[in-house]
Amino acid sequence: MEVKLFSTVSGTVVPIESVADPAFAEKMMGDGLAVRPALTRQAVVSPAEAVVSNVSRTGHAVVLSVAGRFEVLIHIGIDTVNLQGDGFTAKVKNGDRVTVGQDLIEVDFGQVSHKAPSVDVITIITNLEPGDSLTKTARTQVTPKDELFTVIGGDISLSAADCEGEEISSAPVTVLNAVGIHARPALVISQIAAKYPYVRLKKGPKEVNAKSIAALMGLNAGYNDQVVIVARGPKAQEAIDEITAAIKSGLGEAVKTTAGPKKEVVTDFSHTVELKAVVASPGFVAGKIHQAKAAALDFKEKADDAAEELVIFNDSLLLSEIRLKRNIAEAEEKKQKARAEIFQAHVGILKDEEIVETARRLIAEGLSAAAAWRAAVDENAKPLENIDNPVLKERLLDFRDVERLMLLYILGLDDEAVDLPDGAILATRELAPSDLTRYRNVAGYLVAEGSATSHASIMVRNMGIPALAAAGESVLHIPEGLNIILDAGGGRAIINPAPERLEQMKLKQRQLEEIHRRNVEKTKEPAVTVDGLAIAVKGNISNAEEARRADELGAEGVGLFRTEFMFMGGTTPPEAETHRLLYQEILDAMPGGGPITFRLLDVGGDKPISYMEGLAGEENPIMGLRGVRNYPVNLEIIREQIRGLLRLTPLSRVKIMIPMVGELSEYLWVKSLLEEEKANLGVSENVELGVMVEVPSLALTAASIGRESAFFSIGTNDLSQYTLAMDRGNANLAAKLNNLHPAILKLIRMTAEGGQASGIVTAVCGAMASELISVPMLVGLGVTELSTAMNSIPDVKALIRVLDAGKCREAAAKAMNMTSAEEVEALVRREFGEHLPS
Ligand code: PEP
Ligand code: MG
Repeated sequence: MEVKLFSTVSGTVVPIESVADPAFAEKMMGDGLAVRPALTRQAVVSPAEAVVSNVSRTGHAVVLSVAGRFEVLIHIGIDTVNLQGDGFTAKVKNGDRVTVGQDLIEVDFGQVSHKAPSVDVITIITNLEPGDSLTKTARTQVTPKDELFTVIGGDISLSAADCEGEEISSAPVTVLNAVGIHARPALVISQIAAKYPYVRLKKGPKEVNAKSIAALMGLNAGYNDQVVIVARGPKAQEAIDEITAAIKSGLGEAVKTTAGPKKEVVTDFSHTVELKAVVASPGFVAGKIHQAKAAALDFKEKADDAAEELVIFNDSLLLSEIRLKRNIAEAEEKKQKARAEIFQAHVGILKDEEIVETARRLIAEGLSAAAAWRAAVDENAKPLENIDNPVLKERLLDFRDVERLMLLYILGLDDEAVDLPDGAILATRELAPSDLTRYRNVAGYLVAEGSATSHASIMVRNMGIPALAAAGESVLHIPEGLNIILDAGGGRAIINPAPERLEQMKLKQRQLEEIHRRNVEKTKEPAVTVDGLAIAVKGNISNAEEARRADELGAEGVGLFRTEFMFMGGTTPPEAETHRLLYQEILDAMPGGGPITFRLLDVGGDKPISYMEGLAGEENPIMGLRGVRNYPVNLEIIREQIRGLLRLTPLSRVKIMIPMVGELSEYLWVKSLLEEEKANLGVSENVELGVMVEVPSLALTAASIGRESAFFSIGTNDLSQYTLAMDRGNANLAAKLNNLHPAILKLIRMTAEGGQASGIVTAVCGAMASELISVPMLVGLGVTELSTAMNSIPDVKALIRVLDAGKCREAAAKAMNMTSAEEVEALVRREFGEHLPS
């Protein structure tokens, strides 16, 4: 099917990529062209024979249905919805049939141009399918007589015949996700289902539309439940096979909850109150409480004019979509991948067929657009409220968030951006993803409910703002403007501290900032102890942006690049070329920055990836197929990664590190894979292959492994959790999980001695390397390389420059005879306290 679309106005052609709004420029809404109008007053005309699907009530946008196949959006200007119709006169109404060149909207572009950032008339096709092709005009000037573009519909277009035919069902498929089909797995299924005309999912007698995230979630399919896929049409078997494979491979991540203990509610804050909470995003800040208040949204239930309500509804749907896509673009620009994915899931909810169609039906039955939308969301989200699964329940918040966004547009309310004064700590019952854009200039978050795994927590961590979750009802009783010290790293909030304590804390914050500033100035200087021992200080990173920043902060290379973070959200395994491209960007971002240690995929445990086999449904994933242990069942995936790494240039800067190695044989096996791939690619250069030491068995046998491995890098995050048998993600154990425990120090010493015996470097890349209090011990134990969190690089380097390695060794020897971390901490403070922050 071929369709020609003509220009909607006379003017200059503007590539879609140059439109002043990322939702359009990045083609998130669809592909097409814009035209900058030449005349100050002219009508925007129809680009094709079409049926008018929706004329915006403010006249700034029209949606046309062309040839029953393409949805064409004509959007006049940017942010023109705010003009509330000023300058626009609609000449058509919904349902009208229009011909090419027929007036749609008369526009006073002169008037509009004074009030809007752009008057470009954007014409895009919003429902292009993968097989469709679009050819755009080469002209620079056009009139409505000129063709703007031609679109050819590929074979994906659906005819009525596609939906006909016998219904076929899959064999029962077991849901392997630890928390069942929650929002993200539902999104994966709905995206696959969208490619086929008719796909449904069944659990027991209940059957739902597989294109609807809400319906899929409402199916309440939990871990180990069986579901059946039902499809129709010529591609029914293909749909069944694809969805079956997706479910079998896990559909996304399993999520761990960290529920806080039941807490007593404090209402009297006339004295100092300390609240314990779950660390959602670490950091330290002193400020003043700002209570989040979401205005109640009032609206009428019934409406007189269903047609007008439908226009309002359709309009709001479009505006909400543009808003979410802007949020996605902004998150992507800041490399906040997790944040972008969550907004993507919100688009899925917004465009959920079941919800949208229910709302349209209710409008036709006489409800107002607002009441219909709320009822439709309720109908689809309500089943989640009764599910006894805290993770699924938390996803309800995503529904409520999208519900509110739509309601604000329907009611014509501003989207309530709130600019907070400097140092404001936002106190709120729940933190929804949209709150993160609504409240600006937030210094920290104190959240009554939620968990470290909620979508908002993931996003806040991404943004690097301190936050506490699950702090309890008390949060909501804190008076506005009260002083608070948010010690998010320590899992506590100190409310209404005594003036002296607050001053002390503020002073501490200022001093730390000042010391840090001075350390940054000197950060390019090497880190050598006063008695001449050089320690290499490197950065831990997970993307190119962080590589650049680490370089600026004086990193002598990268000691840990967590490659798996680049692939957490995907649904298909990356190919060698994808690995190469992403990693080359990292190398190029640090041109003079020394070697980069790429850790092979460390998947499993708390970091599942949907397409990796063997992970879903593990009873104890932290003790399961983590890291190197799952490579044998995902052999091709790991080979592709190695191939990608071997194609990097210069290879001399590339080091490869294997996670979760427990014994020599695992190292030798990966080494043999590396050698095979080198031979296949004709690579003769030496590429260092080392091991992470994070399983106690490896530390205990370090001497023999050191003879083979190119280096040791101790992952203290895991080494301490396995040594002390304390889950590193458990908020109730966080205070006890102390890296200075003598048992951990002994394992580090064994590793360093094993390394020294074989002449290889022993590094630390776990969080312990960033803890200033631990640095004297690490130096004393024989560690000669520290890879730290980016912001810690200048401070760790500065500390090393004032340490005496001989004294560190003496202190480490004493620690070997101690029995608790507290004792070691006291020793370090006694011996090195003058160099450490109090
Ligand atoms: C560690 O375990 O210390 C480590 C660096 O690896 P990760 O934190 O990624 O598990
Ligand atoms: Mg680890």
